[in-house]
Amino acid sequence: MGLGAHRHGSGAGGRLGPSARARREPRCHAPLAPVLFLPVGTTFDVVAFDGDDTLWYNERLFAEAQAEFRALLAAFHPAEWIDARLEEAERRNIPHFGYGIKGFSLSMIETAIELTEGRIEIRDIRRILDVTKRMLAADVQLLDGVRETVAAVAASHRLLLITKGDLRDQERKVEQSGLGPFFEHVEIVSEKDARTYSAVLRRHGVPAERFLMVGNSLRSDVLPVLEVGGHAAHIPHALTWSHEVADPPPRGHPRFHSLPHIQGLPGLLRDLQV
Ligand SMILES: [Mg+2]
Repeated sequence: MGLGAHRHGSGAGGRLGPSARARREPRCHAPLAPVLFLPVGTTFDVVAFDGDDTLWYNERLFAEAQAEFRALLAAFHPAEWIDARLEEAERRNIPHFGYGIKGFSLSMIETAIELTEGRIEIRDIRRILDVTKRMLAADVQLLDGVRETVAAVAASHRLLLITKGDLRDQERKVEQSGLGPFFEHVEIVSEKDARTYSAVLRRHGVPAERFLMVGNSLRSDVLPVLEVGGHAAHIPHALTWSHEVADPPPRGHPRFHSLPHIQGLPGLLRDLQV
């Protein structure tokens, strides 16, 4: 019996012999072929971005302010000593003031009082306050490729922005960046640790393994996310505050991804597609 006869016969409920069924097999599979061309599933429900030095420049403002602070105290101490004492004060004060420009400013004032044994002039305190206000009013400058990349990823994923620092300053930067509309939510948190990430994932109903965090800080954007079971993409930035420096996760960690530039993110998402 020829195959042609079965083609018509089977449509009317005719039975096929074993040899005919075997010969028809490729034809039976033919209608499934288009499945291969359907969009493949995304690995992540949510892609979250850090803000400072991931989307926009930040640390260089602190570096510029610190250079002015150093100049202010140059008559009293060498630059390295001033830097070291200011850094100590910043770390010591995080539990009191949190992260951001205002805490940095208070740490500069405290360090100036200590390093001059109380002889700092009022006009120099005023200069520190002026530097602070200038930092808080600085234009937001996006890093290269950020706008196109965030827009491209937003077309296929829910986006979150997770940043720490002064509430008002971070809100201002989100607004000025023009990136706000791409994000489903903006989370401004006081610390980026495993507890914070767990709470954010719960709040947004995202399983950890379907969450990718993108950021420049190993300490804040990578290690705690890996700890709670999420994925993290590290994009190093040229200037990073010493407090954010940490050892990278072990080589070959399956949920750790390293990108030289944010423009590599759509490619990473494609590579990780299921
Ligand atoms: Mg950052």
